[in-house]
Amino acid sequence: MKIAVARETREGEARVAMVPELVSKLTDLGYEVLVEPGAGSRAEYADDLYAEAGAVVTDDALTEADVVLGVNALSSDRARGLRDGVATLSFLPVNTSHELVEDLRDLGVTAFAMELVPRISRAQSMDALSSQALVSGYRCAIVAAGLLRRFFPLNMTAAGTVQPAQVVVLGAGVAGLQAIATAKRLGAVVQAYDVRAAAAEEIRSMGAKAIDLELETLEGAGGYAREMTEERAERQKEALAPYIANADALITTAAVPGRTAPQLVTAAMVEQMKPGSVVVDLAAETGGNVEGSVPGQIVRIGHAQVWGGDNVPSQMPGPASKLYAQNLVSLLTLMTSEGEFAPDFEDEVVAGAAVTHAGRILHEPTREAIEGPIDTGPEPEPELERQQLSGDEQLDLPFDSEEQQ
Ligand code: NAD
Repeated sequence: MKIAVARETREGEARVAMVPELVSKLTDLGYEVLVEPGAGSRAEYADDLYAEAGAVVTDDALTEADVVLGVNALSSDRARGLRDGVATLSFLPVNTSHELVEDLRDLGVTAFAMELVPRISRAQSMDALSSQALVSGYRCAIVAAGLLRRFFPLNMTAAGTVQPAQVVVLGAGVAGLQAIATAKRLGAVVQAYDVRAAAAEEIRSMGAKAIDLELETLEGAGGYAREMTEERAERQKEALAPYIANADALITTAAVPGRTAPQLVTAAMVEQMKPGSVVVDLAAETGGNVEGSVPGQIVRIGHAQVWGGDNVPSQMPGPASKLYAQNLVSLLTLMTSEGEFAPDFEDEVVAGAAVTHAGRILHEPTREAIEGPIDTGPEPEPELERQQLSGDEQLDLPFDSEEQQ
């Protein structure tokens, strides 16, 4: 069977779904690997490297493939050129891709979404959200350190003492914890806040101080955060304001699954920051944690430079691609049996990640959003206790009692 590695077409995307050094993992599984020319060039993986690793670099990769690997989902146009019954593995943001999901259903594509892989321990090696968040979190801290025109660490020299930078991180999931760890390694004094109860301990384990706002925690399903009420959001902003005013660098990474990013910091709060301070908003693309941040741009708010994240993992395309490719190899290993691509839809991980298969949408929330609720026929009529009612009582029934009797 043939696996194709797609050349990404999303603007600015520099990652690639497979790296040369992992090609042998796929050939060991029994696949022939085809790569679209130039697929890895923006991540510094030249075509020659794929060829040396045993892949075939060809313009026909997609049209010949049984399985297509991508970072981003193929466009509908590209999907139309695929063979019947092909499978695709890529990120596929189902909430915002309804038209594409309909097309994939109608084309009979078996599409898996990497962001839907269940985050259970068995599937940790397939967790692309985590691997890419690791890259983003690291990058955010490095960007903050690069923009800040002062030291992160304490320096005690003959010429005097230089105080360390004060860094505040909001949101301590995978990306936030990595930002904390990186800022700590660079020597900054780091404080962090997250709405989840478990986060305080995780923040401390990274060597940072957990900010206690004395607000109720917001645990949602699956260990994720819940959305805040407006009133809770206001109280959180008020309580956070002095920490932000005192920070040299603020890094925000907060997210709530399936929602736009919560706004944690207003422009007025940023205006209270010191001259030369820096704000890095990883969530700028998904609505922004910081009011006024713009994805892919640095804007000035008050005295601060505010950097808005835009496809941040793609800014370190080599390592991001390698980690993502390893996630795909792990998932493909689960889906391969005796050299054949044979996903077992009874498996929790396979079923969780499946979006479309054999002309149907398998991901139920997406199916319902696109196709509406399943029609289970007319509601069964309740067994009315009519027989036990007297004639007078029957007159009060909200239906034509003669017809019903
Ligand atoms: P995420 O990207 O959905 O959100 C980032 C962080 O923002 C979360 O920690 C969240 O609590 C926080 N947040 C949301 N609203 C906030 C607010 N108003 N103020 C401050 N912070 C706010 O999260 P993630 O990085 O994907 O991880 C979420 C959870 O999943 C964590 O508990 C993590 O440990 C867990 N996780 C488990 C596995 C696994 O078991 N395999 C893998 C990865 C992550």
